[in-house]
Amino acid sequence: MMHHPDQNDATIYTRGEHNISRENINEPALKVLYRLHKAGYQAFLVGGAVRDLILGLHPKDYDVATDATPEQVKDLFRNCRLIGRRFRLAHIHYGREIIEVATFRGHHAQAEDDDEGSTRDGMIVRDNVFGTLAEDAWRRDFSVNALYYNIADFSVVDYTGGMEDLKQHRLRMIGDANVRCQEDPVRMLRAMRFAAKLDFEFESDLVTAIVDQHHRIEAVPPARLFEEVLKLFMSGTSQRAIHLLIQYKLLAQLFAVTQHHLYHHPEFIDFIELACRNTDQRIAEEKPVTPAFLFAFMLWGPMSLRAKEFESNDMSPIQALQEAGRAVLSQQAAQISIPKRFRLPIRDIWTGQARLRNRRGRRPFWLIQQPRFRAAYDFLLLRANSIEPQLKELGEWWTQFQAVSEKEQKQMCQELHRVSHGQKKRKRKKSTQNKQDVNRTNSTDSSNPSDQ
Ligand code: ATP
Ligand code: MG
Repeated sequence: MMHHPDQNDATIYTRGEHNISRENINEPALKVLYRLHKAGYQAFLVGGAVRDLILGLHPKDYDVATDATPEQVKDLFRNCRLIGRRFRLAHIHYGREIIEVATFRGHHAQAEDDDEGSTRDGMIVRDNVFGTLAEDAWRRDFSVNALYYNIADFSVVDYTGGMEDLKQHRLRMIGDANVRCQEDPVRMLRAMRFAAKLDFEFESDLVTAIVDQHHRIEAVPPARLFEEVLKLFMSGTSQRAIHLLIQYKLLAQLFAVTQHHLYHHPEFIDFIELACRNTDQRIAEEKPVTPAFLFAFMLWGPMSLRAKEFESNDMSPIQALQEAGRAVLSQQAAQISIPKRFRLPIRDIWTGQARLRNRRGRRPFWLIQQPRFRAAYDFLLLRANSIEPQLKELGEWWTQFQAVSEKEQKQMCQELHRVSHGQKKRKRKKSTQNKQDVNRTNSTDSSNPSDQ
């Protein structure tokens, strides 16, 4: 990034000129700021917390920037752990709360002829130089994320015009948007995340940069993409996020299998959208959400299509879902690495879709006890309420089954038994007839030799 002389000039908003009040900053963060200040160091609240406080939102976590080195920070706090290899950070623990304290970061080594700091295509692989407050501001991603709340005089320090952008609800990349998206392609996903969360507009250079650089997300390690995708979908505004990803052609960079499926089955978006809305609602109600559910619904379309193919090749429905699930998950792993502990729950949700159909004998009583029953049931309802309305009856049956007494549950099962017995006779006749129909069409359909 070019170093302009005016980059050392900041606009200072004094305590009366902004709306951040110490009352809205959490206790641990204030303690950290004060202790650093009293020890003679500079101490600022920075990043998402300042942005959110000014917008009147609740900060998710608190980041502190200081001129103290990580070792100096460690000396000040007993509850402090140093983490990170690329850039050392201090984590100060207060119960479950962690305040992250980072030493001002300087400019990374100049891209061009430095093999150490960046790869040939301009991606930064290492930046670990301490710097000044001004340098720290300019290397941040978006102007609205580069505001500093100074505990020394309660002012807000703004080097990059972030305050004005906040007012305009505008997301602007600091510096040359194109270069910054090359340096770290994840910034494009961060752009999606903040635009979704804050309902901000992209500044036009940022739009151009995303359009030009979106393919570079390919180069991001799949483990980092996993973390980013979780933040993108589990911040309570996934419904907006999914549409931004589609609009800016980033979905293909994350979920190529899903993107491909949507191309041929556009109605699948209704299911994704409902699942996202459901996730957002759960987060708003502070109910737990799991990454397993996210991957289960994003990949459901392509996975179930493949399972149907397997099924028509003589596999049982559950076996087909297992095989198709394995195949689609390993395809997905090329882009986003899904940790092992989530892969089994994902496949359980999928095979659960077939299990919920089988209500013979005492199975419903057994199924309802299974650890992933609830997730599979929620998933079934999403299908029923979007693209597979034929499942509504089944969904309603399970809803009722969970709501009634054991005695009534038994009655429900008996009733089911009676109905299915009556139906089966009729059905069997019908299905033999269908089979004949299918055979007939196949034998005349020479365009599909695999069927013969
Ligand atoms: P959230 O509310 O989700 O925590 P945040 O803005 O605090 O949002 P973090 O991921 O916690 O986001 O990062 C803290 C700050 O670090 C950001 O506000 C930004 O200033 C800086 N930052 C984080 N990631 C990058 C990046 N890839 N490139 C440049 N700056 C970054
Ligand atoms: Mg943060």
